[in-house]
Amino acid sequence: MKLVKPVAADRLSELLRQMPKAELHIHIEGSLEPELIFALAQRNAVALPYASVEELRSAYAFTNLQSFLDIYYAGASVLITEQDFHDMAMAYFARAAEDNVVHTELFFDPQTHTARGVSMETVINGLHRACVDAQAEFGVSALLIMCFLRHLSEKEAFETLEQALPYRDKIIGIGLDSGEVGNPPEKFARVFARCRELGFHLVAHAGEEGPPAYVWTALDVLKVERIDHGVQSSKDAALMQRLAQDRIALTVCPLSNLKLCVFPDLASHNLRQLLDAGLAATVNSDDPAYFGGYINENFTQTFAAGELTSQHAYMLASNSFEASFLEDAEKRRHSDRLSAFLEAF
Ligand SMILES: [Zn+2]
Repeated sequence: MKLVKPVAADRLSELLRQMPKAELHIHIEGSLEPELIFALAQRNAVALPYASVEELRSAYAFTNLQSFLDIYYAGASVLITEQDFHDMAMAYFARAAEDNVVHTELFFDPQTHTARGVSMETVINGLHRACVDAQAEFGVSALLIMCFLRHLSEKEAFETLEQALPYRDKIIGIGLDSGEVGNPPEKFARVFARCRELGFHLVAHAGEEGPPAYVWTALDVLKVERIDHGVQSSKDAALMQRLAQDRIALTVCPLSNLKLCVFPDLASHNLRQLLDAGLAATVNSDDPAYFGGYINENFTQTFAAGELTSQHAYMLASNSFEASFLEDAEKRRHSDRLSAFLEAF
């Protein structure tokens, strides 16, 4: 592995902010800031159960994943037209570009919208147009990963897949999100097998609040290429070995873990432990509007709380390109740019 020159603690946060990086775990509906929720509610004449931006923001005190999901679904209710989906994604891309994100893979939850009568076509066309515009406007490349909501049934996931197939060329992969505990990966074994046959890349949330057993079945039953979160894996030595050996990337989201009480504080977070064990961990923002920070905040706060170095910064950014679903030539181009940046810093 490439060795990076040490950087003094007072310059490390600058390095983290400036380094080129990929974001691989961002739910686009979770980038909806309260201001945009109110603006879209007004545009579409949707009544919100909150009187003001401030009241909505103050409701963002979560105790676990479910308490967050309740507000998250209320926020998404303002998204009606293709333009709404486009504008939401463009607001995220502008913010990501400021953080020197050069490539991103967006999760979207079509079932949250189709259940409200918004068509699959509206959702995907709005998001896809934003992905095209992000390249032209911000120089950020973007791919879409469609997620199934795991609290719903596998039958509903199959129906969602069917509705999405006409837009197959606009979707790079399939994911699994929403309430984890009690909804193990194997509940979706058949629909993931079908997605695999269809040639989609596969990822799944596992080991966020759920046990290491869920990470095992995400790997062995669903056959995913990346694990989203996966922080509970450190409780299982054999699993850690497997993840390291197969270079399975974990898309870790430290501020999300903090807000949802997965770890009591960032000093107790196991990001360094995962990296030092040879796992391909990455840093991501998950639902940045709700969890108190975009990707650079995740980097700088985690590094400030733990004993992480410029070497770890390099590993995290390098892993983010390696674990992406870009073509190999693109991955190499980004990795070379990262190396050049670190040498010049
Ligand atoms: Zn997530």
